[in-house]
Amino acid sequence: MTTTELALAPSTGFSTTQVQGGYRASASVGAVPPIHQTAAYEFSNLAEAADLFALRKPGIIYSRNANPTQQILEERIACLEGGASAVAVASGQAAVAVTLLALAHRGGHIVAAHQLYGGTIDLLQETLDDFGIGVTFVDQDDLDAWRDAITPQTRVVFAETVANPIAQVLDIRAVADIAHEAGVPLVIDSTVGTPHLIRPGEHGADFVVHSATKFLSGHGSSLGGVVVDQGTFDFGADAARWPQFTGPYTRFGEMVLWEQFGQGHAFAALVKSKYVHDLGPSISPFNAWQILQGIETLDLRVARQSATALTVAEHLAGHPAVSAVHHPGLPGNPWHELAERYLPNGVPSVFSFDLAGTQDETAFTRVATVLDNLRVFRLVANIGDARSLVAHPASMTHGHLTADQRAAAGISLTTIRVSAGLEDPADLIADLDRALALL
Ligand SMILES: *Cc1c(COP(=O)(O)O)cnc(C)c1O
Repeated sequence: MTTTELALAPSTGFSTTQVQGGYRASASVGAVPPIHQTAAYEFSNLAEAADLFALRKPGIIYSRNANPTQQILEERIACLEGGASAVAVASGQAAVAVTLLALAHRGGHIVAAHQLYGGTIDLLQETLDDFGIGVTFVDQDDLDAWRDAITPQTRVVFAETVANPIAQVLDIRAVADIAHEAGVPLVIDSTVGTPHLIRPGEHGADFVVHSATKFLSGHGSSLGGVVVDQGTFDFGADAARWPQFTGPYTRFGEMVLWEQFGQGHAFAALVKSKYVHDLGPSISPFNAWQILQGIETLDLRVARQSATALTVAEHLAGHPAVSAVHHPGLPGNPWHELAERYLPNGVPSVFSFDLAGTQDETAFTRVATVLDNLRVFRLVANIGDARSLVAHPASMTHGHLTADQRAAAGISLTTIRVSAGLEDPADLIADLDRALALL
């Protein structure tokens, strides 16, 4: 289970926490968190083994459920988000899946933004649907639509802090209020936001998920995912609605997770002892360690990438070959005011722009002319890497959407997504200018 003892005072600053959170060095384990490359753990005697198996005692049995390197990562991210506990898993996709399974339980319903990451849309409308968990998608800017979509079966309200590729900023507080009026927790995917730019828990989110593959890892080298329980949602307030927490947890006899682990910890206990245990999306100790290394420079990287992205976006906004730039840091962008309210430390470095010209069969060729001639930007289906990346949503990430769905998402045939990396901004601008000049 998650460690409850904090390595640092809860008031410790962000930079200190990202370097030291979750780890107490000692002579035997070294100054840097070690990779605990082991599948299982030896018990001191049979009585201890029996206590651990029955969840009577906290500890680790087997690395499918938990590993010490993973636990350092969990505690560090929980501290960075200001949360109570966290669970790290093999990918962002797995983090979203185990979170939604644990909360929606049997027959639950989810209200989600239609601007969500494509993999999450697939999970919701196909895989979770196969299991009888329903979903209603709404336009995240339409507060009445959120309110109207909630039913007595709704157990989750789900959105991203900043969506991509169009970079719509969510009014988190308004959506949190709607969810809470209905007695439902708000789950926020803050992969693009990162805890350096925004901590959704401060604006009403009850659970925060990340694809750690992106900015937390920061180097495009390892997959990982994490869900943080902010400790704010009281499953005991309407116990009949949440039997997975407040009723007997039958695999452990009469145990009730809400009584045994309490607010802020019962969710992690359920996710680890049931969903990760049964389905097996465990993070490898090596990946957990790489993500820990990445987090140590999170604020430096994200601040630099945000500044670079804004510089590049401002340049593109004045370029004759570009018809629109979707970056909420730019005045006049529809989400500019929300960005000023929620993102005072900077706007995320993932944004997009549209090539000028007709939206017809020549669009793909024109986009290809630009993307195939970039030398610094890399054509990669990822974000949050140290390298600057580009992608073409209409033929890549959003290629399976219908034309209407694509239009509703604000994506045209010439929309190009950018994830700004750590290179010199002047090189990035020169690279784009050279490629755009070929049109
Ligand atoms: C990448 C991504 C995911 C999925 O994460 P993986 O680590 O690729 O499984 C989920 N949400 C968002 C916003 C993402 O960008």
